[in-house]
Amino acid sequence: VDEASRLGGQYYRGRHGDQSTGSPAWFTDRSRGVQVLSTTSVIDVQERELTGWDESAGCCRPIPFDLLIVCTGAYDRPVALPGWTLPGVTTAGGALTFAKAYHALTGQRLVVGGSGPFLLPVALALRQAGARVTVFEATSLQVSIGGARRLAGDPVTLARALSYRFGLAARGIRFVHGRMITAIRGEERVRSLIHHRVDTDWRPIPGSGHELAADGVALGFGFTPRVELAQLLGCELGYDPLTSTFHIRVDRDQRTSRPGVYAAGEATGITGAGVAHLEGRLAGLTAAADAQLLPGDECARQTRPLVRRLRHARRTQSWLAHAFRPRAGLWRLMQPEDVLCRCERVTCSDVEAAIHTTLPTPNSVKAVTRAGMGLCQGAICGPLLTEWIRSQHGYQPPATTRDWSVRAPLRPVPMHAWPVG
Ligand SMILES: Cc1cc2nc3c(=O)[nH]c(=O)nc-3n(C[C@H](O)[C@H](O)[C@H](O)COP(=O)(O)OP(=O)(O)OC[C@H]3O[C@@H](n4cnc5c(N)ncnc54)[C@H](O)[C@@H]3O)c2cc1C
Repeated sequence: VDEASRLGGQYYRGRHGDQSTGSPAWFTDRSRGVQVLSTTSVIDVQERELTGWDESAGCCRPIPFDLLIVCTGAYDRPVALPGWTLPGVTTAGGALTFAKAYHALTGQRLVVGGSGPFLLPVALALRQAGARVTVFEATSLQVSIGGARRLAGDPVTLARALSYRFGLAARGIRFVHGRMITAIRGEERVRSLIHHRVDTDWRPIPGSGHELAADGVALGFGFTPRVELAQLLGCELGYDPLTSTFHIRVDRDQRTSRPGVYAAGEATGITGAGVAHLEGRLAGLTAAADAQLLPGDECARQTRPLVRRLRHARRTQSWLAHAFRPRAGLWRLMQPEDVLCRCERVTCSDVEAAIHTTLPTPNSVKAVTRAGMGLCQGAICGPLLTEWIRSQHGYQPPATTRDWSVRAPLRPVPMHAWPVG
Protein backbone atom coordinates (compact mmCIF):
# COMPACT_ATOMS: atom_id res chain seq x y z
CA VAL A 1 0.00 0.00 0.00
CA ASP A 2 1.67 3.23 -1.08
CA GLU A 3 0.22 6.71 -1.18
CA ALA A 4 2.52 7.63 -4.06
CA SER A 5 1.44 6.94 -7.62
CA ARG A 6 4.78 5.29 -8.43
CA LEU A 7 6.17 2.56 -6.21
CA GLY A 8 9.69 2.52 -4.82
CA GLY A 9 9.78 5.20 -2.14
CA GLN A 10 12.27 8.06 -2.25
CA TYR A 11 15.13 6.04 -3.64
CA TYR A 12 13.71 3.54 -6.16
CA ARG A 13 10.76 5.55 -7.44
CA GLY A 14 12.52 7.00 -10.46
CA ARG A 15 14.56 3.89 -11.41
CA HIS A 16 12.47 2.51 -14.21
CA GLY A 17 15.11 0.14 -15.63
CA ASP A 18 15.72 -1.72 -12.36
CA GLN A 19 14.32 -5.29 -12.38
CA SER A 20 16.01 -6.56 -9.20
CA THR A 21 14.18 -8.16 -6.27
CA GLY A 22 12.19 -5.51 -4.44
CA SER A 23 12.29 -3.02 -7.32
CA PRO A 24 8.98 -1.41 -8.43
CA ALA A 25 9.04 -3.56 -11.59
CA TRP A 26 9.41 -6.71 -9.49
CA PHE A 27 6.36 -5.85 -7.38
CA THR A 28 4.12 -4.90 -10.27
CA ASP A 29 4.92 -8.09 -12.24
CA ARG A 30 1.47 -9.70 -11.90
CA SER A 31 2.89 -13.24 -11.95
CA ARG A 32 4.23 -12.69 -8.42
CA GLY A 33 0.73 -12.38 -7.00
CA VAL A 34 1.44 -9.20 -5.04
CA GLN A 35 -1.60 -6.94 -4.89
CA VAL A 36 -0.37 -3.37 -5.20
CA LEU A 37 -2.52 -0.48 -3.99
CA SER A 38 -0.86 2.74 -5.12
CA THR A 39 -2.23 6.28 -4.62
CA THR A 40 -3.67 4.80 -1.42
CA SER A 41 -2.92 6.46 1.92
CA VAL A 42 -3.38 4.55 5.12
CA ILE A 43 -5.40 7.00 7.19
CA ASP A 44 -6.73 4.83 10.03
CA VAL A 45 -6.27 1.46 11.65
CA GLN A 46 -8.57 -0.81 13.65
CA GLU A 47 -7.66 -4.10 15.33
CA ARG A 48 -6.79 -6.01 12.12
CA GLU A 49 -7.85 -3.59 9.42
CA LEU A 50 -6.42 -0.51 7.81
CA THR A 51 -8.49 2.18 6.16
CA GLY A 52 -7.00 3.22 2.84
CA TRP A 53 -7.91 6.49 1.14
CA ASP A 54 -7.71 5.81 -2.59
CA GLU A 55 -7.07 9.22 -4.07
CA SER A 56 -7.54 8.23 -7.71
CA ALA A 57 -10.88 6.47 -7.02
CA GLY A 58 -11.95 9.18 -4.53
CA CYS A 59 -13.06 6.71 -1.84
CA CYS A 60 -11.92 4.88 1.27
CA ARG A 61 -11.61 1.11 1.43
CA PRO A 62 -10.93 -1.40 4.22
CA ILE A 63 -7.63 -3.28 3.95
CA PRO A 64 -7.68 -6.30 6.29
CA PHE A 65 -4.38 -7.76 7.52
CA ASP A 66 -3.03 -10.54 9.71
CA LEU A 67 0.48 -9.13 9.91
CA LEU A 68 1.61 -5.62 9.05
CA ILE A 69 4.99 -4.16 8.14
CA VAL A 70 5.16 -0.40 8.63
CA CYS A 71 7.71 1.31 6.38
CA THR A 72 6.45 4.86 6.14
CA GLY A 73 9.88 6.47 5.58
CA ALA A 74 10.75 9.97 6.70
CA TYR A 75 9.99 13.65 6.17
CA ASP A 76 12.47 16.39 5.36
CA ARG A 77 13.22 17.86 8.77
CA PRO A 78 11.27 21.09 9.08
CA VAL A 79 13.33 24.03 10.30
CA ALA A 80 12.05 27.48 11.23
CA LEU A 81 14.13 30.64 11.17
CA PRO A 82 13.15 34.25 10.49
CA GLY A 83 11.64 34.40 6.98
CA TRP A 84 11.18 30.63 6.55
CA THR A 85 7.55 31.01 5.36
CA LEU A 86 8.42 33.38 2.48
CA PRO A 87 7.62 32.11 -1.03
CA GLY A 88 10.83 30.71 -2.51
CA VAL A 89 11.85 28.87 0.67
CA THR A 90 11.50 25.09 0.53
CA THR A 91 13.07 22.07 2.11
CA ALA A 92 16.03 20.61 0.22
CA GLY A 93 13.93 17.56 -0.71
CA GLY A 94 11.17 19.87 -1.95
CA ALA A 95 13.55 21.84 -4.21
CA LEU A 96 14.95 18.57 -5.54
CA THR A 97 11.49 17.19 -6.30
CA PHE A 98 10.56 20.34 -8.20
CA ALA A 99 13.76 20.09 -10.23
CA LYS A 100 13.67 16.36 -10.95
CA ALA A 101 9.98 15.53 -11.19
CA TYR A 102 8.64 18.80 -12.62
CA HIS A 103 11.75 20.31 -14.27
CA ALA A 104 11.01 23.50 -12.34
CA LEU A 105 13.29 25.62 -10.20
CA THR A 106 12.23 27.41 -7.02
CA GLY A 107 14.64 30.23 -7.93
CA GLN A 108 17.50 31.11 -10.28
CA ARG A 109 20.00 32.13 -7.59
CA LEU A 110 19.49 29.33 -5.12
CA VAL A 111 21.15 28.88 -1.76
CA VAL A 112 21.16 25.42 -0.22
CA GLY A 113 21.68 25.60 3.54
CA GLY A 114 21.77 22.91 6.16
CA SER A 115 23.83 19.95 7.13
CA GLY A 116 24.64 16.47 5.90
CA PRO A 117 25.44 14.48 2.77
CA PHE A 118 21.99 15.10 1.25
CA LEU A 119 23.05 18.67 0.41
CA LEU A 120 25.45 17.30 -2.21
CA PRO A 121 22.99 15.61 -4.62
CA VAL A 122 20.51 18.45 -4.08
CA ALA A 123 23.04 21.15 -5.03
CA LEU A 124 24.21 19.15 -8.03
CA ALA A 125 20.68 18.53 -9.32
CA LEU A 126 19.73 22.21 -8.94
CA ARG A 127 22.86 23.27 -10.82
CA GLN A 128 22.16 20.74 -13.56
CA ALA A 129 18.63 22.14 -13.81
CA GLY A 130 20.15 25.57 -14.56
CA ALA A 131 20.29 27.44 -11.22
CA ARG A 132 23.26 29.34 -9.80
CA VAL A 133 23.91 27.52 -6.54
CA THR A 134 25.75 28.27 -3.28
CA VAL A 135 25.89 25.79 -0.40
CA PHE A 136 26.26 26.60 3.30
CA GLU A 137 27.08 23.47 5.28
CA ALA A 138 26.71 24.31 8.97
CA THR A 139 28.86 21.40 10.13
CA SER A 140 32.57 22.20 10.23
CA LEU A 141 35.13 21.16 7.62
CA GLN A 142 36.97 19.14 10.30
CA VAL A 143 33.92 16.90 10.77
CA SER A 144 33.73 16.30 7.00
CA ILE A 145 37.43 15.44 6.84
CA GLY A 146 36.95 13.09 9.80
CA GLY A 147 34.00 11.60 7.92
CA ALA A 148 36.12 10.92 4.84
CA ARG A 149 38.61 9.02 7.05
CA ARG A 150 35.80 7.18 8.75
CA LEU A 151 34.26 6.21 5.41
CA ALA A 152 37.50 4.54 4.34
CA GLY A 153 35.93 1.31 5.70
CA ASP A 154 32.91 1.84 3.44
CA PRO A 155 34.40 2.48 -0.03
CA VAL A 156 31.05 2.61 -1.85
CA THR A 157 29.71 5.46 0.30
CA LEU A 158 33.06 7.25 0.22
CA ALA A 159 33.27 7.02 -3.59
CA ARG A 160 29.74 8.42 -3.92
CA ALA A 161 30.48 11.32 -1.57
CA LEU A 162 33.73 12.15 -3.40
CA SER A 163 32.09 11.99 -6.80
CA TYR A 164 29.45 14.48 -5.63
CA ARG A 165 32.15 16.80 -4.24
CA PHE A 166 34.12 16.66 -7.51
CA GLY A 167 30.86 17.22 -9.44
CA LEU A 168 30.16 20.36 -7.41
CA ALA A 169 33.72 21.66 -7.81
CA ALA A 170 33.69 20.98 -11.57
CA ARG A 171 30.52 23.07 -11.92
CA GLY A 172 31.91 25.95 -9.88
CA ILE A 173 29.43 25.56 -7.02
CA ARG A 174 30.56 27.48 -3.94
CA PHE A 175 30.48 25.10 -0.94
CA VAL A 176 31.15 26.77 2.41
CA HIS A 177 31.61 24.83 5.66
CA GLY A 178 30.83 26.15 9.14
CA ARG A 179 28.32 28.82 8.04
CA MET A 180 24.58 28.72 8.52
CA ILE A 181 21.63 30.66 7.10
CA THR A 182 20.29 32.58 10.10
CA ALA A 183 17.53 34.69 8.50
CA ILE A 184 15.78 35.06 5.16
CA ARG A 185 14.60 38.43 3.91
CA GLY A 186 12.07 39.62 1.38
CA GLU A 187 8.58 41.05 1.02
CA GLU A 188 6.60 39.15 -1.62
CA ARG A 189 9.24 36.42 -1.85
CA VAL A 190 12.89 35.71 -0.97
CA ARG A 191 15.19 38.61 -1.85
CA SER A 192 18.28 37.82 0.25
CA LEU A 193 19.49 35.91 3.26
CA ILE A 194 21.83 36.42 6.18
CA HIS A 195 24.48 33.79 6.89
CA HIS A 196 26.80 33.57 9.88
CA ARG A 197 29.86 31.62 10.83
CA VAL A 198 28.75 29.28 13.64
CA ASP A 199 30.52 27.65 16.58
CA THR A 200 30.45 23.90 17.21
CA ASP A 201 26.95 24.25 18.71
CA TRP A 202 25.84 26.25 15.66
CA ARG A 203 25.53 29.48 17.61
CA PRO A 204 26.11 32.42 15.24
CA ILE A 205 29.44 34.13 15.92
CA PRO A 206 28.79 37.87 16.51
CA GLY A 207 30.18 40.07 13.73
CA SER A 208 30.41 37.22 11.19
CA GLY A 209 27.07 37.88 9.45
CA HIS A 210 26.82 38.66 5.73
CA GLU A 211 23.89 39.32 3.44
CA LEU A 212 23.67 37.43 0.16
CA ALA A 213 21.19 38.12 -2.64
CA ALA A 214 19.09 35.06 -3.52
CA ASP A 215 15.66 34.31 -4.95
CA GLY A 216 15.34 30.80 -3.58
CA VAL A 217 16.46 28.98 -0.43
CA ALA A 218 16.48 25.21 0.13
CA LEU A 219 16.84 24.19 3.78
CA GLY A 220 18.22 20.67 4.31
CA PHE A 221 18.87 19.73 7.92
CA GLY A 222 18.30 16.00 7.50
CA PHE A 223 15.17 13.93 7.98
CA THR A 224 12.73 12.93 10.71
CA PRO A 225 11.12 9.47 10.75
CA ARG A 226 7.45 9.35 9.85
CA VAL A 227 5.91 7.67 12.90
CA GLU A 228 2.22 8.67 12.93
CA LEU A 229 0.90 5.33 11.67
CA ALA A 230 2.99 3.39 14.21
CA GLN A 231 1.75 5.74 16.92
CA LEU A 232 -1.87 5.15 15.89
CA LEU A 233 -1.15 1.41 16.08
CA GLY A 234 0.12 1.86 19.64
CA CYS A 235 3.72 0.85 18.88
CA GLU A 236 6.43 2.05 21.24
CA LEU A 237 8.57 4.91 19.99
CA GLY A 238 12.03 6.03 21.01
CA TYR A 239 13.58 9.50 21.05
CA ASP A 240 17.21 10.25 20.26
CA PRO A 241 18.11 13.54 21.99
CA LEU A 242 21.27 13.87 19.88
CA THR A 243 19.57 13.76 16.47
CA SER A 244 16.30 15.24 17.85
CA THR A 245 14.18 12.51 16.24
CA PHE A 246 11.50 10.04 17.28
CA HIS A 247 11.61 6.57 15.70
CA ILE A 248 9.67 3.30 15.90
CA ARG A 249 11.32 0.92 18.35
CA VAL A 250 12.05 -2.54 16.94
CA ASP A 251 13.84 -5.63 18.21
CA ARG A 252 16.77 -7.26 16.39
CA ASP A 253 14.35 -8.91 13.92
CA GLN A 254 12.27 -5.76 13.22
CA ARG A 255 9.30 -6.63 15.50
CA THR A 256 7.64 -3.61 17.07
CA SER A 257 6.21 -3.69 20.59
CA ARG A 258 2.79 -4.57 19.15
CA PRO A 259 2.35 -8.27 18.25
CA GLY A 260 1.94 -8.86 14.52
CA VAL A 261 3.32 -5.43 13.59
CA TYR A 262 6.85 -5.04 12.18
CA ALA A 263 8.70 -1.93 11.01
CA ALA A 264 11.57 -1.26 8.63
CA GLY A 265 13.46 1.57 6.97
CA GLU A 266 13.73 5.22 7.88
CA ALA A 267 10.66 5.11 10.15
CA THR A 268 12.87 3.15 12.57
CA GLY A 269 15.78 5.63 12.28
CA ILE A 270 17.51 7.65 9.57
CA THR A 271 20.08 5.28 8.12
CA GLY A 272 19.77 5.50 4.33
CA ALA A 273 18.49 3.39 1.47
CA GLY A 274 20.88 0.45 1.89
CA VAL A 275 19.88 -0.16 5.50
CA ALA A 276 16.18 0.34 4.65
CA HIS A 277 16.43 -2.35 1.98
CA LEU A 278 18.10 -4.86 4.34
CA GLU A 279 15.66 -4.11 7.16
CA GLY A 280 12.72 -4.62 4.80
CA ARG A 281 13.99 -8.10 3.88
CA LEU A 282 14.60 -8.93 7.53
CA ALA A 283 11.10 -7.77 8.54
CA GLY A 284 9.56 -9.86 5.74
CA LEU A 285 11.46 -12.99 6.77
CA THR A 286 10.60 -12.49 10.44
CA ALA A 287 6.92 -12.00 9.64
CA ALA A 288 6.93 -15.13 7.45
CA ALA A 289 8.56 -17.17 10.23
CA ASP A 290 6.17 -15.81 12.89
CA ALA A 291 3.25 -16.78 10.64
CA GLN A 292 4.82 -20.25 10.30
CA LEU A 293 5.13 -19.85 6.56
CA LEU A 294 8.90 -20.28 6.84
CA PRO A 295 10.58 -22.88 9.10
CA GLY A 296 12.60 -21.32 11.94
CA ASP A 297 15.94 -22.82 10.84
CA GLU A 298 15.45 -21.63 7.25
CA CYS A 299 14.58 -18.16 8.56
CA ALA A 300 17.75 -18.15 10.69
CA ARG A 301 19.85 -19.26 7.68
CA GLN A 302 18.49 -16.41 5.56
CA THR A 303 18.57 -13.70 8.21
CA ARG A 304 22.10 -14.36 9.53
CA PRO A 305 23.93 -12.68 6.63
CA LEU A 306 21.40 -9.84 6.64
CA VAL A 307 22.00 -9.13 10.32
CA ARG A 308 25.77 -9.13 9.69
CA ARG A 309 25.47 -6.70 6.77
CA LEU A 310 23.08 -4.51 8.73
CA ARG A 311 25.52 -4.23 11.63
CA HIS A 312 28.20 -2.96 9.26
CA ALA A 313 25.92 -0.62 7.26
CA ARG A 314 24.28 0.89 10.35
CA ARG A 315 27.67 1.78 11.82
CA THR A 316 28.53 4.15 8.94
CA GLN A 317 25.04 5.57 8.63
CA SER A 318 24.55 6.23 12.30
CA TRP A 319 27.96 7.95 12.41
CA LEU A 320 26.81 10.21 9.55
CA ALA A 321 23.48 10.93 11.30
CA HIS A 322 25.26 11.92 14.50
CA ALA A 323 28.13 13.84 12.91
CA PHE A 324 25.82 16.06 10.84
CA ARG A 325 23.04 16.28 13.46
CA PRO A 326 21.32 19.58 14.16
CA ARG A 327 22.93 21.44 17.06
CA ALA A 328 21.33 23.54 19.78
CA GLY A 329 21.89 26.88 17.99
CA LEU A 330 19.46 25.87 15.23
CA TRP A 331 16.50 25.92 17.61
CA ARG A 332 17.27 29.41 18.87
CA LEU A 333 17.08 31.35 15.60
CA MET A 334 13.35 32.03 15.71
CA GLN A 335 12.16 35.36 17.08
CA PRO A 336 8.91 35.95 19.06
CA GLU A 337 7.01 37.23 16.00
CA ASP A 338 8.02 34.27 13.78
CA VAL A 339 5.38 31.77 12.76
CA LEU A 340 5.93 28.30 14.17
CA CYS A 341 2.75 26.59 12.91
CA ARG A 342 2.01 27.95 9.47
CA CYS A 343 -1.33 26.12 8.99
CA GLU A 344 -2.86 27.82 12.06
CA ARG A 345 -0.53 30.86 12.07
CA VAL A 346 0.74 30.29 15.61
CA THR A 347 3.81 32.37 16.47
CA CYS A 348 6.59 31.71 18.96
CA SER A 349 5.16 34.40 21.24
CA ASP A 350 1.75 32.60 21.14
CA VAL A 351 3.57 29.47 22.30
CA GLU A 352 5.34 31.38 25.07
CA ALA A 353 2.02 32.92 26.19
CA ALA A 354 0.45 29.44 26.27
CA ILE A 355 3.28 28.13 28.42
CA HIS A 356 2.29 30.67 31.10
CA THR A 357 -1.08 28.94 31.38
CA THR A 358 -0.32 25.30 30.63
CA LEU A 359 2.41 22.67 30.87
CA PRO A 360 5.52 23.18 28.74
CA THR A 361 4.82 20.06 26.64
CA PRO A 362 4.03 19.84 22.91
CA ASN A 363 0.57 18.36 23.41
CA SER A 364 -0.51 20.91 26.02
CA VAL A 365 0.65 23.78 23.80
CA LYS A 366 -1.15 22.18 20.86
CA ALA A 367 -4.42 22.10 22.81
CA VAL A 368 -4.16 25.76 23.84
CA THR A 369 -2.82 27.32 20.63
CA ARG A 370 -4.14 24.93 17.91
CA ALA A 371 -0.55 24.48 16.66
CA GLY A 372 -0.52 21.22 14.69
CA MET A 373 -4.29 21.07 14.16
CA GLY A 374 -4.23 22.33 10.56
CA LEU A 375 -3.83 20.72 7.18
CA CYS A 376 -0.44 19.08 7.78
CA GLN A 377 -1.58 17.75 11.18
CA GLY A 378 1.72 18.75 12.77
CA ALA A 379 4.02 17.02 10.26
CA ILE A 380 5.85 20.36 10.00
CA CYS A 381 5.34 22.10 13.33
CA GLY A 382 5.24 19.01 15.61
CA PRO A 383 9.02 18.44 15.54
CA LEU A 384 9.65 22.21 15.62
CA LEU A 385 7.46 22.74 18.65
CA THR A 386 9.09 19.83 20.46
CA GLU A 387 12.59 21.20 19.86
CA TRP A 388 11.54 24.78 20.72
CA ILE A 389 10.07 23.70 24.08
CA ARG A 390 13.04 21.43 24.68
CA SER A 391 15.62 24.14 24.01
CA GLN A 392 13.72 26.99 25.72
CA HIS A 393 12.11 25.17 28.66
CA GLY A 394 14.19 22.03 29.23
CA TYR A 395 11.37 19.71 28.14
CA GLN A 396 12.30 16.00 28.15
CA PRO A 397 10.33 13.77 25.72
CA PRO A 398 8.88 10.63 27.32
CA ALA A 399 10.80 7.35 27.03
CA THR A 400 8.49 5.21 24.88
CA THR A 401 6.01 7.49 23.18
CA ARG A 402 5.57 10.95 21.73
CA ASP A 403 3.77 13.70 23.58
CA TRP A 404 1.78 14.59 20.49
CA SER A 405 -1.67 13.09 20.00
CA VAL A 406 -2.33 11.50 16.63
CA ARG A 407 -5.87 10.95 15.37
CA ALA A 408 -7.44 9.45 12.28
CA PRO A 409 -7.60 10.44 9.51
CA LEU A 410 -3.81 10.67 9.25
CA ARG A 411 -4.23 13.01 6.30
CA PRO A 412 -7.19 15.15 5.26
CA VAL A 413 -9.82 13.38 3.15
CA PRO A 414 -13.12 14.73 1.76
CA MET A 415 -16.01 14.34 4.20
CA HIS A 416 -18.02 12.20 1.76
CA ALA A 417 -15.19 9.66 1.62
CA TRP A 418 -14.93 9.16 5.37
CA PRO A 419 -16.48 5.80 6.33
CA VAL A 420 -19.35 6.35 8.77
CA GLY A 421 -20.05 3.88 11.59
C1 LIG B 1 16.56 12.62 -3.59
C2 LIG B 1 17.05 11.63 -2.60
C3 LIG B 1 18.27 11.03 -2.79
C4 LIG B 1 18.73 10.08 -1.89
N1 LIG B 1 19.93 9.50 -2.10
C5 LIG B 1 20.36 8.56 -1.26
C6 LIG B 1 21.60 7.90 -1.47
O1 LIG B 1 22.30 8.19 -2.43
N2 LIG B 1 21.96 6.91 -0.62
C7 LIG B 1 21.18 6.56 0.45
O2 LIG B 1 21.53 5.66 1.20
N3 LIG B 1 20.02 7.18 0.69
C8 LIG B 1 19.59 8.16 -0.13
N4 LIG B 1 18.41 8.79 0.12
C9 LIG B 1 17.61 8.37 1.27
C10 LIG B 1 16.76 7.17 0.84
O3 LIG B 1 15.87 7.59 -0.14
C11 LIG B 1 16.02 6.61 2.03
O4 LIG B 1 16.98 6.16 2.96
C12 LIG B 1 15.13 5.44 1.63
O5 LIG B 1 14.25 5.79 0.61
C13 LIG B 1 14.35 4.95 2.84
O6 LIG B 1 13.47 3.96 2.44
P1 LIG B 1 12.09 3.74 3.21
O7 LIG B 1 11.44 2.61 2.54
O8 LIG B 1 12.35 3.66 4.66
O9 LIG B 1 11.27 5.07 3.02
P2 LIG B 1 10.72 5.83 1.65
O10 LIG B 1 11.62 5.48 0.53
O11 LIG B 1 10.52 7.20 2.07
O12 LIG B 1 9.35 5.10 1.44
C14 LIG B 1 8.25 5.31 2.28
C15 LIG B 1 7.01 5.06 1.47
O13 LIG B 1 5.90 4.99 2.36
C16 LIG B 1 4.81 5.66 1.75
N5 LIG B 1 3.93 6.07 2.86
C17 LIG B 1 4.23 6.77 3.97
N6 LIG B 1 3.16 6.91 4.77
C18 LIG B 1 2.14 6.29 4.15
C19 LIG B 1 0.77 6.08 4.46
N7 LIG B 1 0.22 6.54 5.60
N8 LIG B 1 0.00 5.39 3.57
C20 LIG B 1 0.53 4.90 2.43
N9 LIG B 1 1.83 5.05 2.08
C21 LIG B 1 2.62 5.75 2.93
C22 LIG B 1 5.42 6.80 0.98
O14 LIG B 1 4.58 7.20 -0.08
C23 LIG B 1 6.71 6.15 0.45
O15 LIG B 1 6.54 5.59 -0.81
C24 LIG B 1 17.94 9.74 -0.77
C25 LIG B 1 16.69 10.37 -0.56
C26 LIG B 1 16.24 11.30 -1.46
C27 LIG B 1 14.91 11.98 -1.23
